[in-house]
Amino acid sequence: MRVHVLDDGIFVTDAGNIFGGSRKARIRGAMHAVLIEAGDELVLLDAGFGPELPEGLVGRYELNREKNIMDGIREAGHKPGDVTHVVLSHLDADHVGWALAPRSFPNATVYVQRAAVDEAREMSEKDGRRMVVPAVDEGVEEGWCELLNGDGEVVPGIRVEVRTGHSAGHQIVWIGDGEDAALFTADLAPSKIFLNPDTIAGVDTDPEAARRNRIEVLSEAEEKNAPIILYHEPKDFLVNVRRSEKGFEGVPLKD
Ligand SMILES: [Zn+2]
Repeated sequence: MRVHVLDDGIFVTDAGNIFGGSRKARIRGAMHAVLIEAGDELVLLDAGFGPELPEGLVGRYELNREKNIMDGIREAGHKPGDVTHVVLSHLDADHVGWALAPRSFPNATVYVQRAAVDEAREMSEKDGRRMVVPAVDEGVEEGWCELLNGDGEVVPGIRVEVRTGHSAGHQIVWIGDGEDAALFTADLAPSKIFLNPDTIAGVDTDPEAARRNRIEVLSEAEEKNAPIILYHEPKDFLVNVRRSEKGFEGVPLKD
């Protein structure tokens, strides 16, 4: 398998939008989707913001981009039509854009956990997660979206695992096994500060589950010495985890 870490730009927002309350501090987040060449299959993990910032976020978020995910796919030598599988960790707007709004991979099946869709369906109409439910429903009806009911392999060697907290049905992805395994943690541990299990995002629907799952998953990654791809980390997005006083720390991979 060959793994490419893509880039969908950098968003800038008030820290209160991530952690809750009013923090009066600006934070930046990248969107590092992952493209995996696995034999004849081309698998995308998460799908950035899409062509532009969703309407509901204009004013609260800024999006700075030199490149987007589609450029990254082309630079890796592929076309959007070559993507066969898209795994969505959950339904937040910064993870589903190119997959659902609009649908940009005409030949791909999009995988999302049923529990994530069920939870989003109950949210307020203005919630970003709720707003993409109609696209998921349409995909299920037309056969290009598949709802998952728990852990499993999407293609041989690429395994999703449900790790809730940030949302119901939030899934992480193990890429490969044994000594060559890598881990896509999505919003269970999206950036270096989230390697501290006590860092809680205000938008987590179950903070205690997020904390417990983060400790379990990061412990396993440390044991396996599996590099982690940090979706929202602007610079050192590829790290190995080590135990530290604050829980875990990320040691950037050189290369
Ligand atoms: Zn996110």
